[in-house]
Amino acid sequence: MMPLPETFDDTVRLDLHMHSTASDGALSPTELMQLCHARGLTHVALTDHDTIAGVAEAATEAERLGLRLLCASELSAQWRGVTIHVVALLPDGAQGALIEGLDAQARAREARSEEIARRLEAIGLDEALARAREQAGSDRPLGRPDFARALVAAGVVPDMASAFKKHLGAGKRGDVKAHWPWLSEIVGWIRDAGGVAVLAHPLRYGMTRRKRGLLLDDFVEAGGEAAELVSGFQNPDTTRDLSRQLQERGMFGSLGSDFHAPGGALAPGSMSDIPRTALLPVWRHPRLARFAQ
Ligand code: AMP
Ligand code: MN
Ligand code: MN
Ligand code: MN
Repeated sequence: MMPLPETFDDTVRLDLHMHSTASDGALSPTELMQLCHARGLTHVALTDHDTIAGVAEAATEAERLGLRLLCASELSAQWRGVTIHVVALLPDGAQGALIEGLDAQARAREARSEEIARRLEAIGLDEALARAREQAGSDRPLGRPDFARALVAAGVVPDMASAFKKHLGAGKRGDVKAHWPWLSEIVGWIRDAGGVAVLAHPLRYGMTRRKRGLLLDDFVEAGGEAAELVSGFQNPDTTRDLSRQLQERGMFGSLGSDFHAPGGALAPGSMSDIPRTALLPVWRHPRLARFAQ
């Protein structure tokens, strides 16, 4: 296998942000690895929400296919009243404080599901928890997409987009964030595990450039070292500007599709081109040297 290039360039066949059935993705870890391989990717990370439960299965299939896989997770946190996602890249797996941290995230997700269910029952979706569980189709921790599907199935809203827009999106009744730990705590767990903390999709929090700068400052102060320069599809001018914000803080840049399910606009490895930049790619981070080979 070709080692990854020293800079961001067109030869990168990598995706460091994808979901499987271990959280809200549609493909099993095995199926996801097969799709990554079929699409010509060489280096990938499985980043299920608040869990690494799918990584062992993915690793078996990745090894068989000759794909390089990084243990990872997308952790939910809160910062100044906003839910923030942090991708933990974990070359040594879950270690130290992160082990208990992942347990705590699973419990937080459970308590949060009960609260979301109570709130949706108040708007007329009876047995909301059981309905969301049925949509999930397994005993994995529930997320808002499961409740969104339950709202659609019960005919309360016509589609997923309306479910988020009316009931589950930021600031709506079903957006329960009180259960997530502070951003600094999450970053601490990742560092304690010998991992690299990557701020996920910094352009998708609806923040002004200035507020995003404050978030990046706090993230770096907590020990965060990278952010996703490109997440799926985005405007090239915005990417250039974000690149500057990251370089100013000595951060590394990561890349990912945030793939959840086939059929949409995204597939593993599909994301906007990277404009020429001096930003260092996250695979140049010393702790990821083994992965980058
Ligand atoms: P949770 O992890 O429970 O907070 O749920 C967040 C997940 O919901 C995200 O990772 C997306 O997969 C999904 N999501 C967020 N907003 C939307 C939306 N507007 N339409 C569909 N899915 C969404
Ligand atoms: Mn998701
Ligand atoms: Mn996310
Ligand atoms: Mn994601």
